[in-house]
Formats: sequence, C-alpha cells, structure tokens
Amino acid sequence: MSSKIKSLKYNGKWDFSPSIESIENLSIQKEYELFINGKFQKPFAKKYFPSINPSNEQKLSRIAKAEFKDVDLAVNSARDAFNGQWGKISGKDRAKYIYRIARIIQEKSKELAIVETLDGGKPIRESRDIDIPLAAAHFFYYAGWADKLKYAFPNRTPKPLGVVGQIIPWNFPLMMAAWKIAPALATGNTVVLKPAESTSITALLLAEIIKEAELPQGVVNIITGDGSTGNIIVNHPDVNKIAFTGSTEVGKSIMESISGTNKRSTMELGGKAANIIFEDAPLDQAVEGVINGIYFNQGHVCCAGSRLFIQESVYDVVLRKLKDRMQSLVVGNPLDKNTDIGAVNSKQQLSTINKYINIGVKEGADIFQLNCELPNSGYWCPPTLFTNVSQSHSIAKEEIFGPVLAVQTFRTTQEVINKANNTPYGLSAGVWTDKGSKAFNLATKLKAGVIWANTYNKFDPTSPFGGYKESGHGREGGLHGLSPYLNLE
Ligand code: NAP
Ligand code: MG
Repeated sequence: MSSKIKSLKYNGKWDFSPSIESIENLSIQKEYELFINGKFQKPFAKKYFPSINPSNEQKLSRIAKAEFKDVDLAVNSARDAFNGQWGKISGKDRAKYIYRIARIIQEKSKELAIVETLDGGKPIRESRDIDIPLAAAHFFYYAGWADKLKYAFPNRTPKPLGVVGQIIPWNFPLMMAAWKIAPALATGNTVVLKPAESTSITALLLAEIIKEAELPQGVVNIITGDGSTGNIIVNHPDVNKIAFTGSTEVGKSIMESISGTNKRSTMELGGKAANIIFEDAPLDQAVEGVINGIYFNQGHVCCAGSRLFIQESVYDVVLRKLKDRMQSLVVGNPLDKNTDIGAVNSKQQLSTINKYINIGVKEGADIFQLNCELPNSGYWCPPTLFTNVSQSHSIAKEEIFGPVLAVQTFRTTQEVINKANNTPYGLSAGVWTDKGSKAFNLATKLKAGVIWANTYNKFDPTSPFGGYKESGHGREGGLHGLSPYLNLE
C-alpha cells in the first residue's frame, strides 16, 4: 500500500500514484456487426457510426446501424425462435442457458469492466465493483425463477408474451441489458435489444457471450443504432411488448406510438430523487451517502439523489462536512483505480449539464465546485453543489443527469415530505435518521418507487425497482420483474 502513496502529506486529499488498469491484452474490434439469428451480420445499408472513449475523445470502434430491414430480420428471427425450439423447451432447460450466460459474464468480468469504462467514461472501480457483478447477479437470480414460475404465480397459468423489444440507455450499459434480457428469457420470451448509441460495445460482447452459451439462434438479437432504430422496434407490428429505460420524453413518445395496439410496456424513466438528512442521522455516513448518491458515476444515475434536504439545525455542519468530502474526490482518468469521478458520457450530455449549471447561477443559487485540474481532452464536469436553492429553481425541478446537487433545508417532517413530493418524478428517495419509526413513516409518505434508509444507490436483483408518476410504470427485479413478461391466465 505504502508504495502507491507518493506523499504521506494530507493536503485536502491523499496524493496517490496513478494505478491504471492495463488494457494491454484487451482487443476491441475495429468494427462491430448486428447480432441477428445467432450470427454477427453486416447491416443491409452498410451504415456505421463511431463509438468513442469520452475521457479522451478517441475512436474505439465503428458500430453497425440497423435500419428497417435489419430490425425486421431480427424480429422475424425472434418470432421463429419463439415458435420453434425456445417455445418448447422446459423452464429447467431455459435456466441452464441463463446460468451459462451468468457464469461466462463472471469469467470475462475484467474485460467487460474495462470496456464499460473505456466506452462509457465511468470509473473502473464502478464498472468492476458494481456494473459487472450486478449484471451477472441478475442472470443468476432469474435463472433460478425459470423453472419455478408456477410457484411465483400460484393457481395461474403463466405464459410468455412472445417477442419483446428492449431499448436501454447509456448509464449502466451491460447491467441494463441484463435487467432486460434475464427476466425475458426466464419467462420464455425472445428478445430484440437495442443499446444506446454511445455505449454499444458491452452489449455486443454480451452477444458474443450468448453465442458462446449456445443459446438457440434467434432467442436474443442485439441490434445497434440510434433513436430511429429504437423507433422502428417500437413500431414493428410483430413485437408484443416494449421494455424501455431512458428519458421521460422518449418514454412518452413510445407510449403514444403503442397506444391503440395491444403491445404491453414497462417504462423506467427519469428521476429527481430527494435525499433527506434529519438532525438525528449519523451525519458522516449521511454525507458519504450523498456523495455516493450524486457524484460517483458522474450523476449519470436515474435514481441519483440530486435534491438534498438538510434539517435546519444541522445544516451548517452537514454542509461543511459535505464540502470537505467533495474536496477529497479524485476526478480523472476512469481507468485509474483511484478515480472517484470519471468522464461525462458524451459531448451532448456535458452541454446539458453545463446548461443547467449556468441556469442555476442565473436564477440566483450559490455555486460551489470542486477546484481540481480537469484533463485537456474528453468531457468533464467537476462535482458541483448549489445552495440558496428554492423549490421553483430549475435545478431543483428538472433532471440534470450530471454531478450537480441542489441543497435545500427543512424544519419539520411534514415540510420535507411536501417538498420531496413536489416533483413530477417518483423514482427513488433516501432518508437518513437514527429512528426506524421516522424512516418507516417517510417510506409510506414519499411518492417514490424505491426508498433507501441510511444508505443510497444499493441494488439487488431480488428487489423490485421502478417509478411512480413520470418516472414510469412497471417494475424490474425480484418477483415483480417476472409478471411484466407474462400473460397470467
Ligand atoms: P434517451 O434519450 O431516452 O435514450 C434511451 C434509449 O432510447 C437509447 O437507446 C436511445 O437511443 C433510444 N431512443 C431515443 N429516441 C428514441 C425513440 N424515439 N424511439 C425509441 N428509442 C429511442 O435517454 P438517455 O439520455 O440515453 O438516458 C438518460 C435517461 O434515462 C435519463 O432520463 C434517466 O433518468 C433515464 N434512466 C432511467 C432509468 C430507470 O430505471 N428509471 C435507468 C437509467 C436511465 P440513442 O442512444 O441512440 O439515442
Ligand atoms: Mg462510447
């Protein structure tokens, strides 16, 4: 350990020598094709788009763009697989394939973590310790359900829906693919999945894993492209369900497109979570929870605790601790194991974040930012905190999806419940208190799908996740994550 420390002087933060994850044995292909019917295939129109590393703007690969004919082929392959072998095998046999996928993800976890970090910009610590293990855990968990559906739904006859179209965002690329594919397979459906344009590579590595697991051809098809490709999946007449994770705006447009059809849907959309610190909370842990909730992963988390409510009596001390802790955050090369805050995922996302920071200042809030050196190339935003914020400020109302925290105060429990619920979103919330009764009281009154008590951003495949109001409908994870993929007769 001591060899890694350049200087033992503590000057706001420990000065660690870089500890860069090696990419020597990593091979990222120059070009990735579409995974349709068990094979990698070139797109009919031969169009491709670049995938870049957002921490240095270097091109990593070029990715096939699927258009109508490609999507149609993928949907037809999924339909043939559903009507053929996959529709006939037992739950126990489906489980074997899903377990295989989980095990291969574990075997390749190092490579997957590095690619996730290169393609998406998140720190290697996050990819290695959170994204990839949770992706494997999700497949393990749902493999366990595949032959037990009749116990999950006693006195009902669970039947798969057919072909499901799945569209995912860029913040947890492999983990989101696992959240979508694992329950769909466990329940006997077949899949056409589209990852986000800026983070397609780990989904394509998952396609390789699926091939290696010898899943029957056509059961999972992974096709890449932009929003227009997603739109074609949504409107394909032979798709039985759309499972979407992404912005509320696109979610609403998908709901409009499928209204009047008998397509089923689950929507996991945006959020503006409240993280609430009561005066009786363990304040140091609470501050760590705030840092974890909004700054790690660059605030690119739908359930990010982007609104912090501090009880007035402890406001000064919490704010001081929070600013001190912010000063110790390490921003920089995502491949460095010491890095806390990596790169923002894309140029477009950085300009959205900067737009909101400027609005926050213009609307009169007080800004505090970590004073740190940012790399010369790539997309970077230092951890940012706003105080003197009111409920009407845009930074307190709108989803920013970046490392920007809006701090407000409260005096009474009722006041903070009103303030926390004063949002069109309802995905998650955090409560920090020494009193179990207070945590339970708030859990029943806060309108959010997930409420963490004395912790934040904890995920587990056995636990359902999903939103209220404009944060979407349907649940992913746990037993609850099975029924959206089933007709229960
Ligand atoms: P987005 O723009 O809505 O994109 C999500 C996915 O939809 C991407 O694959 C995107 O493709 C595709 N897409 C875009 N337009 C489409 C259209 N008209 N029809 C069909 N598909 C379309 O969201 P994002 O900016 O990538 O992700 C951030 C958002 O996701 C945030 O609002 C965040 O809160 C939300 N999110 C929610 C959860 C949750 O569980 N509730 C989890 C993670 C993220 P391209 O990438 O190629 O544009
Ligand atoms: Mg990329």
